[in-house]
Amino acid sequence: MRTLIRDVRVFDGERSIGRADVVIEGELIAAAGAGAGDQADVEIGGAGRTLLPGLIDAHTHVFDGSLAQALRHGVTTELDMFCLPEILAEQRLLAAGNDDVADLRSAGTLATAPGGHPTQLLAALAGTVLDGAPAIDFVSDPAQAPAFVRARLAEGADYLKIVIDDGRVHGADLPAMTPDVATALTEAAHDAGLRVVAHAISAAEVGIALDAGADGLAHVWTDLAPGDPASRRLAERVRAQGVFVVTTLAYFEAITARHVETADRARPGSSAGAAGALRDLHRAGVPLLAGTDATPFAPAHGAGLHRELELLTEAGLSPEEALAAATSLPARHFGLDDRGRIAPGLRADLVLVEGDPTRDITATGAIVDVWRRGVRQTRQ
Ligand SMILES: [Zn+2]
Repeated sequence: MRTLIRDVRVFDGERSIGRADVVIEGELIAAAGAGAGDQADVEIGGAGRTLLPGLIDAHTHVFDGSLAQALRHGVTTELDMFCLPEILAEQRLLAAGNDDVADLRSAGTLATAPGGHPTQLLAALAGTVLDGAPAIDFVSDPAQAPAFVRARLAEGADYLKIVIDDGRVHGADLPAMTPDVATALTEAAHDAGLRVVAHAISAAEVGIALDAGADGLAHVWTDLAPGDPASRRLAERVRAQGVFVVTTLAYFEAITARHVETADRARPGSSAGAAGALRDLHRAGVPLLAGTDATPFAPAHGAGLHRELELLTEAGLSPEEALAAATSLPARHFGLDDRGRIAPGLRADLVLVEGDPTRDITATGAIVDVWRRGVRQTRQ
């Protein structure tokens, strides 16, 4: 089966390459370039449209239904940042065997201190999306780090997620991972060939994650006022260490709205703080990966990533930089060599939209067609 998308504007994951013909053959992109297409079984007109690599959300939490919902919005790969082992096994099978859901990579069970974040949230989910409050492995001593990492490998983790969060930014007081445990986990993960992504949402916690040698941050920090020179210095340090940052502005927007609604002033400035950190990271030249922290609540899987792209452009990224943050950059920083760009030989994970999102980012929402591993999705 050969599909030709004729004379379409192409954003290749890094930049616009102008108008081209793109050919899909089986699971792969067979050709992309001017005059690349000749005969095909299916031909789709590209006039007025833009073809993008399938979107990658670099921070989600997958439950039943999440991966199907994501794909409907053009998100062809989700990078899950904490999934319970039973759910992960089920969702991984689903993603491997079906082309009507997004593909999945996951951290599996995250590492946190006994009773630490997000166990308070897990307890709250019991009876809604979870049957009961699940028991998870904890790490309280550096000596436990190698065994913890082995257990994650056994459950199929693709990277390790560590949580450094004393709850202060949420207006709580929670046991937090100590710096020596963060360092031991990072070393054990690196020895096992896993990347380490750290959840840290205050500047001090980010400092601990950087000291530990984490490869990426799962969020921007939120506790420094926009324009605070400490934020700029921290961004420079992130850049110097070659660490990537997953943005999750849509998450901070969602929780800020929730706190305003309930008149809970625990996080008065988290959304503004997050946007300020994002600006400093962007100015410093840190690789930014678009992520939403999507859950069954808010932000939503799929739709949340389009909102994230809008927020990134409002925080100073060009539309092309925002699109790269949701395509080539997460692929590169998570070692997904087979996707994230439009080039011959790569997986045909593609999104066709009306208009030109490299000028107006909201055009990513005007989806005409989605392909996952070469399979065209039926649009409603
Ligand atoms: Zn998360």
